[in-house]
Order: sequence, then structure tokens, then C-alpha cells
Amino acid sequence: MKFAVKAWSNGKARTGILQLGNCPASIQTPALLLSTRKGLPHFIPPDLLPSLPFPHSHLLQVSPLHFLEGLSPKTISSLGGLNQMLGLPDYAFAAVARDSMQSLPEYNSTNKIGASFQTRCGRFLIKPVDYVEMISCMRPNVWATLADEVPAWVPEKRNKTSVDRTVRWLDECIALSSAGGAILGSIVGGSDVEERERCAQEVARRSVSGYLIGGFGLGESIEERPALLNAVTDMLQEEKPRFVCGLGLPEEVLQGVAAGIDLFDSEYIYHLTLGGIALTFPPCGVEINASEFQPSYIGIEQTKINLRATIYRKDTSPIFENCGCYTCQNHTRAYINHLLNVHEMLAHILLEIHNTHHYLSFFKSIREAIEAGEFDKFRHRFIESRCESDDHPAVAVAACV
Ligand SMILES: [Zn+2]
Repeated sequence: MKFAVKAWSNGKARTGILQLGNCPASIQTPALLLSTRKGLPHFIPPDLLPSLPFPHSHLLQVSPLHFLEGLSPKTISSLGGLNQMLGLPDYAFAAVARDSMQSLPEYNSTNKIGASFQTRCGRFLIKPVDYVEMISCMRPNVWATLADEVPAWVPEKRNKTSVDRTVRWLDECIALSSAGGAILGSIVGGSDVEERERCAQEVARRSVSGYLIGGFGLGESIEERPALLNAVTDMLQEEKPRFVCGLGLPEEVLQGVAAGIDLFDSEYIYHLTLGGIALTFPPCGVEINASEFQPSYIGIEQTKINLRATIYRKDTSPIFENCGCYTCQNHTRAYINHLLNVHEMLAHILLEIHNTHHYLSFFKSIREAIEAGEFDKFRHRFIESRCESDDHPAVAVAACV
């Protein structure tokens, strides 16, 4: 893995270039990793994957824990690792143990031996040695070390223990690792600024290729996040990429970018798609022209729409005008509404294509704003437009910025 920072804007927001082994082109950051279930997107079949923007859709996030109930690590290894087994030779994989869908950290059962996760097939205690074996058999391009992630409300003592364990497991993972793949050192610390700094300092001293900032989206408030994120990124080497898990909403992504984060997960897209929701906000906040984006129906918010609603039964327009995605080029809101109402899986396939395409466009707009030196302007205009459409401007702007 190679990473280089390209441009800065308004303090810490930055663009960069990430090169990963088998990915045929470099990926520009800030970037979105496509979340997967067992290595493949949740709904989009492999033959429609190339319809997503290239090369920005070629970075996939996988949790090794998704395979616990199925193929053994040795079988995956004998099948050639993730790329060969999944038939995706020119995609890059980033492995992270935790996700918010199928492998949730279970802090009450985590102990000094290993991290506990609640999965669909039960609770598992994962020791560093087992985790590294899974990684070495799956051969992802990048992988994050095991972390003891705790929610924001745990007592101070438990939070300190989580930092101590995460740093110890980092050393164990580095010592056990001999199979290659770039290592992202996991950083935790809950909602305590000092513990966040301590963990980031310890991880920055180790021989890692980048950082995974964990423990977000676990009960901390949106107001306390900037201080926590900045406490971490201030301690990290600038030339190494930073990946955060648990920040998914557009406002949260902008908070992360402002603090110098380069990579984000896309579980937000999964949850929207599952609920029949389509993104419809203008991805480029700087060029918002209110007259172009008035909703077709009074009372419907502009940022996303629920395609299950009966008002879309006869709507012959695409999900989002001017969207170049496969779904919007070929299908209407009425058709997707029908598919949702008759429980056809194609509804979720088409929705995931649109939502992923739309969010990748949002990331492209962020990169363009940073390169133009106008990230702060972009962020303020974007949040103001979202808050206006949600009818509670003052509170939301204050919370988001
Ligand atoms: Zn679309």
C-alpha cells in the first residue's frame, strides 16, 4: 500500500492518493469503502459491480468474522484468498473485525484473552492469534488490528483498560503477522480526549502503515466528536492514511474530513437500502440551486425519499434527475416502489446501486472542494441546505459544524 497527501484545505481537510496492490488504478481520498457481507456487496451482484464509478468503487471492506460459521480459514487460503475465491481479482480488500450489521463488539464479554463479538451465529471470543490466522488465510490488501471497542458510557477504568488491551493486541498482531498486507493500527479511547490521545500516541510509535480509528458511533454525541477526532489525528503521522468506522451520515463524514480523516465505511448505505430509502440530496453542496431541487411533492424532505410510500406508485421519474447510475438510467420510482411492495430482491439491488453511486458522487464533491481550497465553504453550504430541508436550521447547523 502506498499513500501520499495531495492537497490541504482549511486546516486539516486533505486529499490523497492511495495505491493498493491489485487495484488497477489509484484511489483518491477522502474515499468510501463499500461495505460487504462475506466479501460481496450486500445486494449488488458481481456482474453489475462494474456499473459503479471506476476506480472509486474498487475498495471493499470485509469482516473476517462473517466467515466464522462457514468456510475455515485454511479452506479460504486453499481457494486463493478473498480475491480469487470471490472472483474479484482487481478489487482491493480492507479487513476490519467489527461492523454495525453482523459482527458487533460485545464489550461486556471481552476480556484480557480476546475481543468478543455478537454475530448472527452467536457470540465469539476472538483471540489475536486466531484473528491473525484468519487474516493471513484471506490475504486482504489492508487489515486493522484487533480492538477492544467500548461505548461512550463505560466507566473511566473500563475505558483505560480498552486502550491498554488494544495497544497490547496491536503488538501481538504485529508480532504474529508474517503474511503481508498493510497493517492499520487500531485506535480507541471512547469519549475521553486524554485516552484518545494516549492510544493514538502509542499506536503512532508502532510500525504500522496507517490507522483505524474505532469506537465511534457507540453512543458519543455529535458535539463531542470534533474534539475526540482532532485529539487523535493531531498525534498521527501525516503521511499515513486514517480510516474511521462508525461515521456514516453526510454531516458525520464532513466532520471526519475536517479532522483529517481519509477513509470511511458505508454501512449508512446498507441501512438506507434495507429500509427502502433512496438518497436525493444534491451531492455537490457548493452549487446548490434551490429552484432545481424543489421536491415534487409538498411535505417530502429533499435529502432522501422512502420509495415504499404510495405517492411513488405512479411516479415515472428516475430516483434522482441527472443521476448517471444504472438504476436511474433504466428504471423509475414507480417500478422500484412496486418491487419493494412485492418484496422483490431486485428493489434492493437497484437501490444499493443508486445509493452507492450517489454517495461516491458526494465524496467526489468533497475532494473537488478541498482541491479548490474551499472545504469549509462547501461544508457550511451543504449543512445549511440539509438543515433548511429538515426545517430546524439553527439547532442542526450548530450541532453539525
Ligand atoms: Zn441514480
